[in-house]
Amino acid sequence: MITFHVISLFPESLTSYLEASILKRAQKEGKIAVKYYNPRDFAIGRGSKPTYAERRVDDRPYGGGPGMVLEAEPVIRAIAKAVGRKLNQKSSKKKVKIVFFSPAGHQFSNTVADTFRKYSDIVMVCGRYEGIDARVKKVFPMTDISVGPYVLTGGELPALIMIDTITRRLPGVLGHDESVEERRVSSPDVYTRPAAFKYKKKIYKVPEVLLQGNHAKIDQWKVGRQNGFSKNQKIFK
Ligand code: SAM
Repeated sequence: MITFHVISLFPESLTSYLEASILKRAQKEGKIAVKYYNPRDFAIGRGSKPTYAERRVDDRPYGGGPGMVLEAEPVIRAIAKAVGRKLNQKSSKKKVKIVFFSPAGHQFSNTVADTFRKYSDIVMVCGRYEGIDARVKKVFPMTDISVGPYVLTGGELPALIMIDTITRRLPGVLGHDESVEERRVSSPDVYTRPAAFKYKKKIYKVPEVLLQGNHAKIDQWKVGRQNGFSKNQKIFK
């Protein structure tokens, strides 16, 4: 079982995705667990009796510039709560990995996902605003991961992408192991019943080869679709 520890100011932004379908079942069956740690719970408020909302977790960046930076200490306390003890236990069989989400990190992929499967605990540090005070990484060494060459509002979507990709590759999570796409010949174009339908006077049919039961030919057709797919797609009209 892998336990994902998500450090996030907005844990509610992950739950509806994780509480549906295959990921929900994976949790029910004990294949994975997901725990949340909100840095605000670990912030010491300013003033005499700060309310929860007044427990500030961010401040202006040193050196100037726009936006706010998440303070190091609440994030450090959240990580320590998640796995601090496990990290220090040299004898522990638990393998802990800490991930920091950053657009400048290593590109995440299926291959990277497979390297994460050996860990029992994966801590995911989700940035927000201008990011997190870099001293967090001095206290807890971590791997920077990017989910793509674009900038998102926060690390919560990257965390979901990682949890989803790693989980569906665990044995027994998908009904058939061959459902994992790159362990079989798959096509970007798929069809189901009916074999033909009419829309605005035009008939739309399933390609004939898929109806004939010749699996060698079907695989050949799928490979052809894989190769032709990106070339034939017009992104900009
Ligand atoms: N100025 C920051 C930088 O260049 O790293 C951008 C901060 S971004 C608005 C807020 C947070 O979203 C980041 O700290 C990171 O955790 C997350 N994030 C945004 N884009 C990401 C991406 N492509 N991959 C992984 N994490 C990303």
